[in-house]
Amino acid sequence: VAEGLPRTVHHELGVPTIDRRVVDFANFDHGATAPALISVTETVEKVQRTYGSVHRGAGYTSRQTTAWFEQARREIADFVGARADDQVVITRNTTDALRLLAHALPRRTQVFAWESAHHAALLPWSSARTTRLPVPHSASDALELLREALAASTARHKIVVITGACNVTGEVWPVRELVEVATEFEARTVLDAAQLAPHHRVDIADWGVDWVAFSGHKTYAPYGAGALVGRTDWLDAATPYLPAGGATRAVGARGVQWQTGPARHEGGTPNAVGAIALAAACSALTRHRERIEAHERVLHQRLREGLEAIPGVRLVHALGPERPNVGVVSFTIDGIDCSLVSQVLADEHGIAVRDGRFCAHLLCDAIVGGRGCAVRASIGLATQPHHVERLIAGVRRLVEHGPASAYDHTDAGWVA
Ligand code: PMP
Repeated sequence: VAEGLPRTVHHELGVPTIDRRVVDFANFDHGATAPALISVTETVEKVQRTYGSVHRGAGYTSRQTTAWFEQARREIADFVGARADDQVVITRNTTDALRLLAHALPRRTQVFAWESAHHAALLPWSSARTTRLPVPHSASDALELLREALAASTARHKIVVITGACNVTGEVWPVRELVEVATEFEARTVLDAAQLAPHHRVDIADWGVDWVAFSGHKTYAPYGAGALVGRTDWLDAATPYLPAGGATRAVGARGVQWQTGPARHEGGTPNAVGAIALAAACSALTRHRERIEAHERVLHQRLREGLEAIPGVRLVHALGPERPNVGVVSFTIDGIDCSLVSQVLADEHGIAVRDGRFCAHLLCDAIVGGRGCAVRASIGLATQPHHVERLIAGVRRLVEHGPASAYDHTDAGWVA
């Protein structure tokens, strides 16, 4: 996206190269962690020069940091299209945000989750109260499975865990339609937008989603901050997620009065720098959505076609190749171990992909043949068109000629 852009846009969406010596590293691992935008790292530097304790001090730096921190909440709320009375809780990441919500569910809430969900969205709920839906084979299958399960439930409180975009296939789930089904049965919804938010607009008010969770480190901000955004009622009724300073209004000999609002669940000194950096990334992405989507769409299409044309390469799908996609292509190669593919791409071609089961073991078991492992190439702002050509050529070379002879793959280790 950086090529041929006006300077201001280039500045906002630019990503740094990892090292001066590695000038053209091909990054296809945005699905795991995306590099922080240069504009975000500049924000971090600015805040680091000034920061003081949030909500706890009267001095200039405390006031300034508190103002930036609260402004960050508003920018994060806008990024996901929150309603005016939604709250933004700053968390460590998506895992933490979903765990917080699991902690806040009213007693005996029935949870509905597809087995295709990332473990962060599948595992935080009480297993006795979770209805697991099988991995769907199409969007309409997903809707049907949900409808059947909700129709059979007599629980008073229900919540459906929806994946925005799948971390293995990149397929975008039919969020609006799933929320419609949930609403029909008076179930609430939580959207795992860890993979969706970096690539597509999220609009929880428009889609009718009750809560959304996402991570800064996948959204072009540094590690350590994420968010849970959504309805206040269940969060304010729950005991604090981190009972500690900041979450209390008053502590007496006989009891504690807890805060309401985000502070209730943000015990301890918050990661203000992380939240401000996350908000800076959100704002940059919002300003350039169409450009980002166009960039990723073109690269994704070329990558998919290029890999599909190589004999023995099989692309991995669940909902189907016709679904919109956030720029992920996962594949296997007949007769070649996935870890070997990613090693060869890294060591011989300077390409970063990921191989494995992607914290979605049940999904991989259902849709990937063999040992359930695949290679994932995930596109983002650091990926350029010539990187896509390099990846396609690298895979083709591996299929046709095997690994370069300088390497010895016969041992358990990888010897250069
Ligand atoms: N959900 C999805 C769909 C993901 O891809 C990930 C990260 N791989 C997570 C949740 C968890 O995110 P984090 O590790 O940032 O908590």
